[in-house]
Amino acid sequence: EGSNKEQQPDCISAVIPGWFSEISPMWPGEAHSLKVEKILFQGNSEYQKVMVFQSSTYGKVLVLDGVIQLTERDECAYQEMIVHLPLCSISNPKKVLVIGGGDGGVLREVSRHSSVEQIDICEIDKMVVDVSKQFFPAVAVGYEDPRVTLHIGDGVAFLKAVPEGTYDAVIVDSSDPIGPAQELFEKPFFESVARALRPGGVVCTQAESIWLHMHIIEDIVKNCRQIFKGSVNYAWTTVPTYPSGVIGFMLCSTEGSPVDFKHPVNPIDANDSHSKSKGPLKFYNSEIHTAAFCLPSFAKKVIDPK
Ligand code: SAM
Repeated sequence: EGSNKEQQPDCISAVIPGWFSEISPMWPGEAHSLKVEKILFQGNSEYQKVMVFQSSTYGKVLVLDGVIQLTERDECAYQEMIVHLPLCSISNPKKVLVIGGGDGGVLREVSRHSSVEQIDICEIDKMVVDVSKQFFPAVAVGYEDPRVTLHIGDGVAFLKAVPEGTYDAVIVDSSDPIGPAQELFEKPFFESVARALRPGGVVCTQAESIWLHMHIIEDIVKNCRQIFKGSVNYAWTTVPTYPSGVIGFMLCSTEGSPVDFKHPVNPIDANDSHSKSKGPLKFYNSEIHTAAFCLPSFAKKVIDPK
């Protein structure tokens, strides 16, 4: 009986050593954990702490400032949705800008679209690019496409310098609004995005979790409704290793030819010749595209009250 008492603290502490727990004020009172097989990289860049570890069940994991950015096992759900939701909603996208996304996964997905002629990416942190090329070749493969030009710098400054009406689509693959990505969630940034888009152009931004961040989402939606005169929509998907297991996207279009995001006009052909080096799509299809815009009632009440 006495041994029960002694075991209790052991049981609790046993889950700590050898596990990575994601603790952040962005999700107080909870922390998703993954078992660590081996730490492969740890470094401090000018902007953030960068870590890569081998997990026992999700493959390699990229962590920035203690927050999971991607795992080999579930990155497809995020990268495919953040790209194909906007690009399959317009016909013939040609010029695409990616902000953030230094791992290259978004580039990999954009390059599946054969109509695309130019892919610019502005990532603030070169260490993320280098580490991804070293440890995540199936993600960083996106950089191998000759249409890609990498700019290392702040996405906010980059967008301000873009001539008006340049892009068909802007994809904002940012980290959370604590640290270098903070401004990517603010109104002036969305204003520069709208300016950089052609009439009827589209933007898709990482827009947090309906379970955890309704207040942030409410603000983003309010700002976007003032700025984007085409349409403003929220979609979401499941990513098991993101806090709460879901992540959302803000999808907006500028005034011009109307965009109906819920009904893709540019379905992606998984057998496209551009896909060969990247493997097949694992998550996205046209049904899940349309379904992604259906919101649970508690979220609909805030995002789309009618
Ligand atoms: N693609 C990932 C996934 O699969 O979930 C998600 C996150 S991606 C690694 C987020 C990137 O945004 C980081 O590499 C970070 O350095 C970059 N970033 C943050 N703030 C930025 C800014 N102001 N301008 C450009 N890039 C920024």
